Amino acid sequence: MSRRYEVCIIGGGAAGLAAAVSIRRRIRTCILEKNPIPGRKLLATGGGRCNLTNAACAGARKTLDFFASMGLESRLEEEGRYYPYSGRAADVVKVLTDGVKEAGHDIIPDCEAVSIRKTGDGFLILAERKSTARGKKAAETLSITADRVLLACGGKAGPQYGTTGDGYRLASSLGHRISRVYPILTAIECGDMKDLKGIRARGTVTLKKDGRPVASENGEIQFTEDGISGICVFNLTPMIRAEEGESLRDALARFEVSLDLAPDLPPERLSGRRSSFGILTEALAARVKPEEIRNWRLPVRGIKGWRQAQCTGGGIPLDEADPVTMESRCCPGLYLAGEILDRQGPCGGFNLQNAWETGIAAAEAINAAAGKDARPDERREKNR
Ligand SMILES: Cc1cc2nc3c(=O)[nH]c(=O)nc-3n(C[C@H](O)[C@H](O)[C@H](O)COP(=O)(O)OP(=O)(O)OC[C@H]3O[C@@H](n4cnc5c(N)ncnc54)[C@H](O)[C@@H]3O)c2cc1C
Repeated sequence: MSRRYEVCIIGGGAAGLAAAVSIRRRIRTCILEKNPIPGRKLLATGGGRCNLTNAACAGARKTLDFFASMGLESRLEEEGRYYPYSGRAADVVKVLTDGVKEAGHDIIPDCEAVSIRKTGDGFLILAERKSTARGKKAAETLSITADRVLLACGGKAGPQYGTTGDGYRLASSLGHRISRVYPILTAIECGDMKDLKGIRARGTVTLKKDGRPVASENGEIQFTEDGISGICVFNLTPMIRAEEGESLRDALARFEVSLDLAPDLPPERLSGRRSSFGILTEALAARVKPEEIRNWRLPVRGIKGWRQAQCTGGGIPLDEADPVTMESRCCPGLYLAGEILDRQGPCGGFNLQNAWETGIAAAEAINAAAGKDARPDERREKNR
């Protein structure tokens, strides 16, 4: 089956949906989404509450206005984090998918883009569409021609939500470079810690490389059966990586974490203690000696992989896209948005902000370019 669109968006996640809502009604647009529903990862964000953006982001106001224009109000919580007022990620997905439908654009679910080719003045996209006909699973090949394509298929973090790195293959087939990708914003493995599984403590986590501090984060440290987790831990993981030509094993041996489990207690309350219990919970006190409370050193044995990671490090280098229009510098008519690009932030709404703002920027550029393409009579019609 073949279809023709002016714009084909590959990926119905945060960036793809925000772009589709923002592309003008008269520009015939489709979203190809490999999952049965769009926005599947969005539903899992912020623990099901979707941390939309952060007050520290330059574009936060525009994002909040974008959602308010669709009727979704937001609420500011600690550390500048904005959530939908209802506290439900599902409501974010609903306003976006309703917005796409209201704009008159098509969402094609269960449809995985497998290849993309530049034709004379546009693109040919081949996609596999799954269906269930008379109780039997089937797949058909959909061939789509489009004047412009927006690649918004995300990175590799959270493959269970559909992001398996397809976008890198599609982008490189059109001439893009892909810098090495690695999981970030994930838990750190420190060896056997089964006795502490499920325990939480507030404190400071310092990442050290070759004995020297690299970065510190405060917050709630969650102990797992083989390490530590929690936002303050996640935010340190982008720094745990091998250098050029170094093996991961050698690189990991250079890192350790130091936990300060009583950062606000005056030193005199800590000196001369026979036990850590009373400052730490019983289970923690069984592991941590009083003299270690402010500096409990743990080795870094690894970090959790793609399934647990919240974001992808690396990707398409930023200098390969125009920062205003998000149009590819390697392939005119191709646009790039979201996590597929080598641009990451810490936990707290920064990565969704990246997806919304690059998706909307691409849509605005597509609106402007489609207006220029149109004949003067069509232009009057489009602008109505
Ligand atoms: C558990 C979890 C919680 C998170 N919480 C937050 C948070 O609260 N705040 C925050 O700022 N960030 C959060 N993040 C990060 C944030 O969700 C991502 O950075 C953001 O969703 C990236 O947007 P995107 O549109 O680039 O990609 P995605 O939202 O990942 O969407 C990409 C879409 O493309 C589809 N796709 C992939 N390949 C193809 C193909 N070949 N054909 C068709 N479709 C395809 C995928 O199925 C997916 O739906 C979280 C991430 C995870 C995993």
